[in-house]
Amino acid sequence: MSISMDDLELSCWECEGKGVIEQEGKQQTECPKCDGKGTILTAQGQTLLHFIKKHL
Ligand SMILES: [Zn+2]
Repeated sequence: MSISMDDLELSCWECEGKGVIEQEGKQQTECPKCDGKGTILTAQGQTLLHFIKKHL
């Protein structure tokens, strides 16, 4: 493989990969940055995803 998972997605910096935002005195909320996935697609990841969706 010439591409690795690190090339496709990154750990979300907003929630540190947890998928939820912890707020003091409040309930955990789903991270809006990554939609609760904990990872964010890189440009390469988005390109691949777009390609796959197009040809499925
Ligand atoms: Zn996040």
